[in-house]
Amino acid sequence: MKNKFTYFLFISIFILSGCTATVRTVSPQKTKVILGGGKNIPADTVRVLLSEEISSFQYRVDIPVDLYADGIKIAMIKKGNLIDLKRAGTELTCRIQRKTFRANSFKVSLAGEGFLTFKKSRYRGLFEFIASASGIMLVNHVTMNDYLRGVLPYELPTKNDKSYFQGLKAFAITARTYTVIKTDKRNQYFDLFPDTRDQVYGGADRETEMDSVAIAETEGMLIYYNNEPAQVLYHGACGGSTEAARHIFQNDYPYLIPVKDGDPPNCSISPTFGWQEVYSGEEISKFFFNTKFFMEEKAISDIEILSRLSSGRVSKLRISFKTGEQITLDQREIRQVFRQKKNNGILRSLLFDIQKDFKNDVLAKLIITGKGSGHGVGLCQWGALGMSKEGADYKEIIQHYFPSTVIQIKYD
Ligand SMILES: [Zn+2]
Repeated sequence: MKNKFTYFLFISIFILSGCTATVRTVSPQKTKVILGGGKNIPADTVRVLLSEEISSFQYRVDIPVDLYADGIKIAMIKKGNLIDLKRAGTELTCRIQRKTFRANSFKVSLAGEGFLTFKKSRYRGLFEFIASASGIMLVNHVTMNDYLRGVLPYELPTKNDKSYFQGLKAFAITARTYTVIKTDKRNQYFDLFPDTRDQVYGGADRETEMDSVAIAETEGMLIYYNNEPAQVLYHGACGGSTEAARHIFQNDYPYLIPVKDGDPPNCSISPTFGWQEVYSGEEISKFFFNTKFFMEEKAISDIEILSRLSSGRVSKLRISFKTGEQITLDQREIRQVFRQKKNNGILRSLLFDIQKDFKNDVLAKLIITGKGSGHGVGLCQWGALGMSKEGADYKEIIQHYFPSTVIQIKYD
């Protein structure tokens, strides 16, 4: 035991003083993380930012873990010990029993089978803690397959319905392609956010057998266009036709074009396919105040749909105020300004009609009746499940939503 502590002390002194310049220039590794101790994380590691604002982190070890400081293994921590991480200036300190280590980043990796836990959720892979401007960043390094096992149940819950299996496979390939694109681009410390900024990822708590089979059967498959991974996107339900990327995101890709999604639409099996929002005139006035168009709430005299995209989505909505002022919202602004009454989320989609009621020349009530959910670009998730139910296989589904792309096994 004494020898071990001497070794730890030596390593920590080495990090702090002997090799300061070298240590500080070593940034956390990008995607390839190879660990010692006989446990390898393959080269397809995905880095997910679980939190950017932890002020401190205490972890009671229930399965032995290996501890790394700035990429160097410094200790194996036994069951029962407490790992206590804190921010200290521009660095982190990691206290275990009476020893304190300092580094820019610490990694905690299970020495055996099991899970790491953060906020009561279980995670596969390893945790990396990095000193950031606002606190401690927690990044989960996880294999591509384990990452997808933590994405599918949140992004495309299938409730174990076998008729959805081909749609699930098509989605697994889409989500994998999206991930590969992001791992190529993202910043020095992480590749993806664990929420709708990228893909919702909840760790290992909701893994299902059917998801695991869909991921395994499509292992390595990516959607390609012109020998490059395609810039894939997806959404809940298109409502009848998908949308061109250039209308929503201003990026143009030959495979992100409007696709008619069947008649009746494949996505009409979505339980929330049709939706309605009912607003009073005052509530709409508040939207413009809340989004800082005006510093005061102004009565509305009219709302008109000025134009639609070829898919039917509203692309210009003009709002006239009693003061004589007018605001025209484009397709990127409409969903941001008009919020869902249930949860204040952005408007479900742009595929809608309006009905108006006036009282004394002022808008008293607006009913928005719409179809589908999400931006409408790329793969329609409910449509993929609908096609699957009707007997399409995953290749047909990918071809339908990403025309002129190919599926290639490129990932190892
Ligand atoms: Zn659809």
